[in-house]
Amino acid sequence: MQPDSTDPQSDPTDALSAVPAAGARRATPVTGHLRFYYGPMDCGKSTLALQVDHNHARQGRVGVLLVRMDRSGRPQISSRIGITRPAVEVSAAADLRGLVRARWAAGQRVDYLIVDEAQFLTPAQVDQLAELADDYQVDVYCFGIATDFQGRLFPGASRLVELADELRPVQVDVLCWCGLPARFNARVVAGQVVREGDTVLVADTADTADTETGQSTTEGDEIVSGSGTVGATVRYQVLCRRHFRLGDLGTTSGVQGQLAFA
Ligand SMILES: [Zn+2]
Repeated sequence: MQPDSTDPQSDPTDALSAVPAAGARRATPVTGHLRFYYGPMDCGKSTLALQVDHNHARQGRVGVLLVRMDRSGRPQISSRIGITRPAVEVSAAADLRGLVRARWAAGQRVDYLIVDEAQFLTPAQVDQLAELADDYQVDVYCFGIATDFQGRLFPGASRLVELADELRPVQVDVLCWCGLPARFNARVVAGQVVREGDTVLVADTADTADTETGQSTTEGDEIVSGSGTVGATVRYQVLCRRHFRLGDLGTTSGVQGQLAFA
C-alpha cells in the first residue's frame, strides 16, 4: 500500500516516485492479474493449482476451478498425490466471461479462477481470461504444459505466454533418464520417439471412449485411433532437450519421469 500523498506522515521522497499519487491513481482502474504456471507433465502442476486455491479460500476469497480435460476424464482437478477437487469442465466453445457473469447473476462471488490443463484452452479463451482480469478484477491462475510432443507451444500456452502478467516455471524438477531436468514430453510409439501426428490425440480407452485426450491426461498407455497410427500403443516420456532432440529414450526405456524436489 502506497502512503497517501495528502497524509502529513507520508515520506516526502514519494514525490520522486514513478508511482502516481493516490489522487491520480484513482483514475486508473484496479486490475486482476493473469499468471501462467507451466512445466512438463508430472511436475506437480495440479497439486500446486489446488494449493493456490486452498491459500485463497483460506483468506475468505471465492474462486471457481476450471479444467479443460483432467487426467481422470471427469470434471475435477486431480493431482497425482491423491488430492481431488470438483471443477467446471470447459469445452472449446465455452465463453469464460459468460461463465463468470452467470455466477455473478446468480448472486455468487467470483474473486479468482484456477484453470488446470490450460494449454488446451483456445487462444480466444485466454483472451477472455485477460479481459476478466483487466475489466472485472478477477485474478486468474493458469496451470499447464508449455510445449507439445514436437517441442512447440500449445496454442493455449502460446497465448498465455503472450498475455500473462507473470510466467512461472513450476519449481519441481522432473528428470530425464540421464538425470538432467526434463522439459520436453516425447510421444513414444512402439519404442520410438515420433514427431509427426495430431497435437491432441483421440484416445480410445476403457472409460473415456471418444473423449479428446491430450498428452498430459495420459495415464499409462493409450490406444490411438487418430490419424495414421490406428491400434498403436502410445505413451509419453519426459526428456531433457538433448535427448529429446536425439530421440534417445535411454536403456531403461519405459520408465516415466521421476520427481525430485528442487
Ligand atoms: Zn537426458
